[in-house]
Amino acid sequence: MSAKPDLIPGIYNYCDRWCERCAYTSCCLQFQIESEDTSSGDALRGFDALNARFWEEMGEALVQAMRLIREMAAQHGIDPEDLDKETAFSEQEESFHRNAREHPCATASLVYSGMVNEWFAAVDEFLEAEESLLTNHPLSLDEHIQVIRHYQYFIYPKTVRAVEGRLNESSIAQTELQSDSNGTAKVALIAIDRSLAAWSVLYAEYPAQEDKTLSILLHLDRLRRSTEVVFPSARAFIRPGFDS
Ligand code: SF4
Repeated sequence: MSAKPDLIPGIYNYCDRWCERCAYTSCCLQFQIESEDTSSGDALRGFDALNARFWEEMGEALVQAMRLIREMAAQHGIDPEDLDKETAFSEQEESFHRNAREHPCATASLVYSGMVNEWFAAVDEFLEAEESLLTNHPLSLDEHIQVIRHYQYFIYPKTVRAVEGRLNESSIAQTELQSDSNGTAKVALIAIDRSLAAWSVLYAEYPAQEDKTLSILLHLDRLRRSTEVVFPSARAFIRPGFDS
C-alpha cells in the first residue's frame, strides 16, 4: 500500500488521530489499514473536502475567539494588554523539570481536563435536565462539543510527550526545527486553538456559565502562550501533508 501514489509518508505521525474529522484520509496509510476502508479514492477525497471546510470554519472561529477573549477580559476588569505581559505557566518555575509531568504546561493541561468536566456538570445542574448536555445538546452545538471532547484528554499527553522529548533531546537537536518535540508541541497547540474556538461559541450560548467559561478561555489562552514560550519554533514545524 505504501506504493500508492496518493499516500503521504508519515502523515499520521503528527496528526490528532481524529480520523472522522481528518481532511487527509485519502492520503493516509494508517487510516486505510485501521479502517479497512474500501471506499474509492474519489469518495475519500470528497469526505476529506468536507472536513477541510469544517476546519476552515473553525479557523475563522479561532480568530473570533481571540478577539472575544480580549473583549471579555476587558469587561471583567482585566487589561487586555496584561494578557500578553502576564507570566506564562512556563515561566513560573524553571522551564523544564526532571519529570515532564511536573512541568507547568503539563499540569495546566491536566487542570484543563478537569475544568471541562466541571463545566459540563455545572450546566447539567443548572438546567436540571434529565439527560446530560454531553449526550443531549442542540444540534447547532454538536460539532463544538465534539471538538471540546475530542481534545479534552488529548492536550495533556501531547504536552507531556513534547516536554519529555525536549528533555531527552541533545542540545543540537533542540535547535532543530523539525524535532519530534516541536512537532508534538505543534499538535498540542492546534488542539488548544481548536478548543478555544469551540469554547468561544459555548460562551455565548450559556450565559449562566459565563464566569466558568471565561476561566476556561483564559486558562487555555495562557496555556497556548506558555507552550509557545517553551517551544518557540513549534508553530513553524512542518507536518507531513498538513503543512506541506
Ligand atoms: S492523518 Fe488523518 S486519517 Fe491518518 S491517522 Fe491521522 S487523523 Fe487519521
